[in-house]
Amino acid sequence: MSSTEPLLELRQLSVQHAVRSGGSTRLEAVRELSLSVFPGEIIAVVGESGCGKSSLARAMVGLVPASSGEIRIQGVPVQNLAGKARKNWHRQTQMLFQDPHSALSPRRTIADTLAEPLEIQEKVTAEQQKQQILAALSEVNLSSDILLRYPHQLSGGQKQRIALARALLCKPSLIIADEPLSALDVSEQARLLNLFSKLRSDKHIAFVLIAHDLAAVQQVADRVAVMYLGQLLELAPAARFFQGAAHPYSQALLKATQRNWQPGYWADPKEADEPVLKGEPPSALTPPSGCVFHTRCAQRLELCSEVVPGQHSLVQAASAAGAHQVLCHLYSTDKLPLHPSQQEKP
Ligand code: SF4
Repeated sequence: MSSTEPLLELRQLSVQHAVRSGGSTRLEAVRELSLSVFPGEIIAVVGESGCGKSSLARAMVGLVPASSGEIRIQGVPVQNLAGKARKNWHRQTQMLFQDPHSALSPRRTIADTLAEPLEIQEKVTAEQQKQQILAALSEVNLSSDILLRYPHQLSGGQKQRIALARALLCKPSLIIADEPLSALDVSEQARLLNLFSKLRSDKHIAFVLIAHDLAAVQQVADRVAVMYLGQLLELAPAARFFQGAAHPYSQALLKATQRNWQPGYWADPKEADEPVLKGEPPSALTPPSGCVFHTRCAQRLELCSEVVPGQHSLVQAASAAGAHQVLCHLYSTDKLPLHPSQQEKP
């Protein structure tokens, strides 16, 4: 497969959850979202809690059904996959969860946990199984001493790396990592991100990295996708995004990150106490009319509360992976605001 062809493609994907008994009320966690993931790239999906990131991740691996739209694996709609092809989809698309402890059985040793995917997936001899497990442990920088231990005897970072080793034993082409950094300390976060980066380079594995910490994803992401109330508000190559995001919500997230990571960032100390984003996100049960971000947007226009913005391309890219798209009325006129990278420096 060419690296210009998507490994995973979401076309106008929506995911709904029943939130009242009998399913009478439905929450639209993901709304008509289109996104492609290419082989060997790390795409970070960021946004506040409740924006639909985890529902999106679960839909990508088939843990929750799509209510509308389509998911394609190497060009084939997943609803058309059956038998061996469907099994292959579940093998090649692996998931890492936020809490590595609950992802590992407390009653099984690490050796048993790592042997499980080999028993399910393919017939291998005991010696081959052992060699594959040792190789997977080595990939995640863990020694064989760990094999006879139980999950409660390991640190959070070690458990997350065991979960990654188990995923690697399935020989995945795509790993969906749902907030894998949240339960880890800073040094373990860095270690896990380095592993993602190495596996992307050495094995050409693609990662969808769900996160809320922009500073962490900046280290490894090739592209950044920003979600809010189930919608994709901005999608851009990481270098371009971090140089200057275009959507007002992305700009606020970046500003908050800079404030947290750069002491003295604010010229006016009073400003340091002001929240960058005012108010809480509205409920996904009753999303605002027009632009979903208009209730918190400092740059909103008169039409924003009534008219739904369209998707605008800010760059003519040769490939979809180079595209910069933004969902905002500010970019719909002939007088487009210049991208920060194109503005004159004072
Ligand atoms: Fe703000 Fe309007 Fe753009 Fe929404 S469409 S982000 S309210 S300027």
